[in-house]
Amino acid sequence: MSGRVWLVGAGPGDPELLTLKAVRALAAADVILIDDLVDRRVLTHARATTRVIAVGKRGGCASTSQDFIERLLLREAHAGREVVRLKGGDPFLFGRGGEELATLRAAGIEVELVPGITSGMAAPMAAGFSPTHRDASPGVIFITGHEKDEQDRIDWARLAATGLTLVIYMGVARAARIEAGLLEGGMAPATPMVAVQSAMRPGQRIAAGPLQGMAAMLTSESIASPAILVIGEVTRAAQLARCTAKEMESDPDFLQAESR
Ligand code: SAH
Repeated sequence: MSGRVWLVGAGPGDPELLTLKAVRALAAADVILIDDLVDRRVLTHARATTRVIAVGKRGGCASTSQDFIERLLLREAHAGREVVRLKGGDPFLFGRGGEELATLRAAGIEVELVPGITSGMAAPMAAGFSPTHRDASPGVIFITGHEKDEQDRIDWARLAATGLTLVIYMGVARAARIEAGLLEGGMAPATPMVAVQSAMRPGQRIAAGPLQGMAAMLTSESIASPAILVIGEVTRAAQLARCTAKEMESDPDFLQAESR
């Protein structure tokens, strides 16, 4: 009899952000295929005898091919095992969970889906602002900064025109292009942005600044992957929370609020 595959989101890192269902899946697993970005502390929920296979996929480095991962999932499930495919954040946001689901379904394997907290939501939470604050933005776009090839260029200028908050995954290496495209599309150079590296995991770092100069700021602050970039007026709340009382004293918003 065939086993079962659980496609499980591990959340951004903090093991307390696992769902109870993810914990149950880890405890039931015979084998766990784990992504690089998943914090290894979550494995404390697995049995000591469970086989853990790291299937790395870091940008730029040697990685396990998607084809091999899918073959491995099929092989383990056909062998009758309980297989957990553990992914960072949510399995269906930039995690190729959709492709794995399609392959497993086509092979008639039973699949359980367990959502996770995506880093695109953990980052605004970590920086203390809401990406859909109703005074500033009626919505949010989750988008990757990583373009597959020349034909597949993202039209940043068009995205600028939506007026929606942009939450950008895998954007650090493309920051200069993103900045230029958004400015070209008419986004105000002073639009605030926030970068959160390793949101809700050890080594979390937050940097902020205006859209114009974003790429240079990320370099000077040494912001590196994994990081989420959030661009839009909503991020102003995060910036104010970070500035010192001295900066606040001369902040026009603060002075205006005080004189009301
Ligand atoms: N499925 C994942 C995203 C996988 S793509 C999710 O839902 O979060 C990998 C990208 O996610 C990274 O390059 C980075 O942009 C982002 N990322 C993942 N974990 C992160 C974290 N803890 N902090 C900031 N960004 C993170």
